[in-house]
Amino acid sequence: MFEVLLSPDELEIQARTREFVKTEIDPQFLRDLDQEVLDFPHGFHEKVGAAGLLGVRFPKEWGGQGLSWTAEVGVIEEIGRLGIVLGCQHAMPSIVGHALVEFGTDEQRERFLRPMLAGKLVSAEALTEPRGGSDFFGATTIARRDGDEWVLSGAKRFIVGAEGADFFLVYAKTAPDNAPHESLSVFLVERERGVKVEHIFGLMGARGGGTGRISFHDVRIPAANLVGPVNGGAEIFDQMMIPERMTSAAGILGGAQAAIDVAAEYSMKRKAFGQPIRKFQAISHSLADSVTKLDAARGLLWAAARTVDAGLPHRRIVSEAKKFSTETAWEVVNNAMQIMGGIGYTDVYPIERILRDTRLSMIWTGTSEIMSNLIQHEYYRELGDVKPTRRDVEADALNAAAAAEKVFE
Ligand SMILES: Cc1cc2nc3c(=O)[nH]c(=O)nc-3n(C[C@H](O)[C@H](O)[C@H](O)COP(=O)(O)OP(=O)(O)OC[C@H]3O[C@@H](n4cnc5c(N)ncnc54)[C@H](O)[C@@H]3O)c2cc1C
Repeated sequence: MFEVLLSPDELEIQARTREFVKTEIDPQFLRDLDQEVLDFPHGFHEKVGAAGLLGVRFPKEWGGQGLSWTAEVGVIEEIGRLGIVLGCQHAMPSIVGHALVEFGTDEQRERFLRPMLAGKLVSAEALTEPRGGSDFFGATTIARRDGDEWVLSGAKRFIVGAEGADFFLVYAKTAPDNAPHESLSVFLVERERGVKVEHIFGLMGARGGGTGRISFHDVRIPAANLVGPVNGGAEIFDQMMIPERMTSAAGILGGAQAAIDVAAEYSMKRKAFGQPIRKFQAISHSLADSVTKLDAARGLLWAAARTVDAGLPHRRIVSEAKKFSTETAWEVVNNAMQIMGGIGYTDVYPIERILRDTRLSMIWTGTSEIMSNLIQHEYYRELGDVKPTRRDVEADALNAAAAAEKVFE
């Protein structure tokens, strides 16, 4: 139905990903992750990397496919059918890679980006702290300069890959006395430098991703591992929020589509009162509402992707896409469970797992409330009722520059 919006290249890679999802991943692997028989999806990265499906919008020079954001959204949606944990592992190179492509040095790209896009190095991002995630700029993890090194101290919470990742992209205060938006820097921290896993969380869904609390006790990092300028973390954060939110939105739509597909199949076979349940208008209209809402969310998301591709101001549309896709997915998966009746609540079908997974999407990578804050801010800014902050102006300039330089082509 959306073919009309995509170019031949975008359609081709989406079709290739659909085939990869069908043929390369054993459904038992997904069950083992959910039941925590496996504590991390080791092996997945190499498979998806070898298939050329990681960070497809990045330049070919570094192992990407030189495609568009729109192409990547199509890929992520297909991978999202595999569940939120594999979706997240697929998204992580896209998120961490964004910082490296835009702000890293060639040496960092060689050491981290290239092997990450080949699926040979596993990344994690460490933003959230025990003291809070929404109030990101209030971070208290500290890095102080000591000769040719930085010395890192603090703790990060809810880090996917706390168990399992090879390296972490860490935000830390390098100028605690500066204004919050001028106080943070970004570091690449390899696990073996002394990252300590303090706790692995038991989770409602998204299981098997090694999500935990990590700490740094005077961890020494070479100066060459600083990404971007000292105290330039806010700019990197602003840019990283594009892939954070686009990947969350795209992945969860894939999961919701999988759920509604299962429910639709079931509704054709399951009989009640002598006829397939799809013949009851209550069921078929619920399905109609679900597919309509999914298509509306997908349309918004692809419009967001095209907006980013064009280098146009995107903060509002990306936030809208994240909020609307994740909330729609939650509603759709809930409908799918209702269509299935009691069996949907059991582990005979994957609906209950998808429902548990989907709940997270409204919380991570910026909660729905934070998305609403951003959407209204941008909307009033467009109406001239909010004075643009210096960060607003800088973010717009950076987007325009990225478009002009065709960074991702
Ligand atoms: C399973 C899981 C995996 C995660 N993975 C990662 C990861 O890999 N890396 C990482 O860095 N983080 C990760 N996170 C953290 C996630 O991004 C945060 O949980 C999220 O940003 C919310 O932060 P918080 O939990 O501290 O909630 P809080 O910030 O304490 O918010 C609590 C409530 O208050 C609301 N609230 C807060 N401020 C405002 C405001 N200004 N206006 C309106 N409402 C507000 C929030 O919307 C929320 O409802 C993960 C979280 C989970 C649960």
